[in-house]
Amino acid sequence: MRKHTESELCAERAATVIPGGVNSPVRAFGGVGGTPVFIKEARGSRLIDVDGNSYLDLVGSWGPMILGHAHPEVVAAVQEAAAKGTSFGAPTSGEIDLAEEITSRTNCEEIRLVSSGTEATMSALRVARGATGRDKVVKFAGCYHGHADAFLAAAGSGVATLGAPDSPGVPASATADTIVVPYNDIDAVAAAFEQNEGQIAAVITEAVPGNMGCVAPADGFNQKLYDLTRANGALLISDEVMTGFRVGPGGVKAPADLYTYGKVMGGGLPAAAFGGRRDLMEQLAPVGPIYQAGTLSGNPLAVAAGLTTLRLLTDDVYEKLDGLAEQIGKMASSALSEAGVAHYLSAPGNLFSIFFSENRVTNFNEAKAQNTGQYAAFFHTLLEEGVHLPPSAFECWFVSAAMTGEDLSHLETAFSRAARKAA
Ligand code: PLP
Repeated sequence: MRKHTESELCAERAATVIPGGVNSPVRAFGGVGGTPVFIKEARGSRLIDVDGNSYLDLVGSWGPMILGHAHPEVVAAVQEAAAKGTSFGAPTSGEIDLAEEITSRTNCEEIRLVSSGTEATMSALRVARGATGRDKVVKFAGCYHGHADAFLAAAGSGVATLGAPDSPGVPASATADTIVVPYNDIDAVAAAFEQNEGQIAAVITEAVPGNMGCVAPADGFNQKLYDLTRANGALLISDEVMTGFRVGPGGVKAPADLYTYGKVMGGGLPAAAFGGRRDLMEQLAPVGPIYQAGTLSGNPLAVAAGLTTLRLLTDDVYEKLDGLAEQIGKMASSALSEAGVAHYLSAPGNLFSIFFSENRVTNFNEAKAQNTGQYAAFFHTLLEEGVHLPPSAFECWFVSAAMTGEDLSHLETAFSRAARKAA
């Protein structure tokens, strides 16, 4: 058994000064039980905890660490930037470099930098509302777009109640204009437009949903959403906070009017962006009347980390990431099949997850039908075997380019032990 004495002491100390001992709820191991491990440092594909245990990391800080931890070029870029000053509150040429890198990779004509995915989605919605003069937004049950009030309806919870707030503290009025429909159900979106004629500003979707586990859009779903929004004078917001610059050089790049990015583009520091058509983005202050701002937006350290990360993400790296994801997904799936554990490997691109479920998963209700107890057993055996999986059955697994052949052999043994425990 691995020793977790220091992590347990940290958890006790943390719980007295930080709610639940964590600064983001999923880190608390609520979905799998037990005490979270506290991390001391990380390098390449591995995390080291405060007790000195090493873990092969399949979380990657929930997406950003696509090159692995402490990549020497990213660290050097951040050090160099820090030595020149950590924040100026005035424009810098680095922000232009990052904006140019992003616009050249994506469908966005203009972008604006912010500091988190939450800010990106709430700002994109403001642009959509300001530009259309409409208030309502359609979102999908099980999709997560950050923790802004308007999006906390059926986000990570199954009750697709029209407009009902999902979290105490979110007033009913804040989600009264949020219409929640099942994912992959184009008829439900069409019905929402019929019932709310002339009132819907935007549909927001994850380009490939990764926050109910990884769920593939049905063939042509993103295009149909775009066509439907256009036909109804509304806008489509494609949330690529998770997929952007991960599943390919520009992300999914499905047709949309506005896009949101985060995670990878900050290289592990707080940077995110929203962007899209020039005529929409030019409605933002100071050009137009739609207000949005941020003291640390375009922070020079975050820009340096993000730009260096994006420039290192070449076609070869994407090929490696795709190969790793395919191999790791299949390895876990065969181990589970051998142990007789019903599961569904959902792998639309290099983002993937395994549902402990007999059936294909196409929406949140189906995702929730999985056996989360089995996932918890699988997770804990892997942790003991030195593998760090997401501590929740409703999250994607993230590979990094730092993973090695040795890591794959380690995983093969660990998966077969964990699968037998989960059986
Ligand atoms: N949108 C998507 C698709 C996400 O996955 C997330 C975070 O996981 C967000 C938005 C919110 O980003 P952040 O946690 O940086 O606020």
